[in-house]
Amino acid sequence: MSPPSHLQIAIDGPAASGKTTVAHRLADRLHILYLDTGAMYRTLAHLALQTRTDADNEGALVRLWDGAGVRIELDPNSPLGFRINAGGRDIDERILQSNEVTAIVSTIAAHPRVREALVRSQRDIAARGPVVMAGRDIGTVVLPFAQVKIFLTASVEARVARRRAQLLEAGVDISIHQLAQEIEERDRLDRERAASPLVPAPDAHAIDSSTIDADAVVAEIAEIVRNLQREGGGVIA
Ligand code: C5P
Repeated sequence: MSPPSHLQIAIDGPAASGKTTVAHRLADRLHILYLDTGAMYRTLAHLALQTRTDADNEGALVRLWDGAGVRIELDPNSPLGFRINAGGRDIDERILQSNEVTAIVSTIAAHPRVREALVRSQRDIAARGPVVMAGRDIGTVVLPFAQVKIFLTASVEARVARRRAQLLEAGVDISIHQLAQEIEERDRLDRERAASPLVPAPDAHAIDSSTIDADAVVAEIAEIVRNLQREGGGVIA
């Protein structure tokens, strides 16, 4: 892998730390592509539920992904900023955020060969042009040469409140207690897995969004990008 010829911004962090909102708004502001890689793992979880594929069966999951003809279209005019199509049908955000998908996604994402397949797609997408990518391993594994890396955190309370508001908007109603359990368990699985665990890249800027809103985080990252442009370090499209 060689350094990119255009701007790459990696935004990683635990569940519900605000990555997707921040990454989407930042991409809009900079007029560059945006991809939420969590939606890709969720798509595979949804396909596994649909086909009754065991979440522990790595080989079957890889075959499922390879055979599903998943297409990812980066479309700034769509509500999410991208569309995921499998078998000729766009996958609805409500399905991706459902309890059933959330309950198995981290088990599915822990398989090394599943990750290899999805990371390949993610790198292909990043090769298309300047991009903001959100996930868990973007700065460490997917785009290790990204010029800007952010590790976004927030307190569990702030994350639960944020996730609840986001889910209600998507038509999913879960209690605060259940959400806190789900978020902590997913964080544990994501941090403790052997393949590409959730850890900050050594060169990541840590931002705590517990008490600041998404626009303030976007402004902070935009400032980091501007400073980089001024210094002339890294190619900025
Ligand atoms: O970001 P989101 O919460 O939608 O991600 C769902 C799950 O997908 C995470 O809990 C994690 O297990 C997995 N994931 C991952 N690597 C990424 C993005 C998401 O393992 N780059």
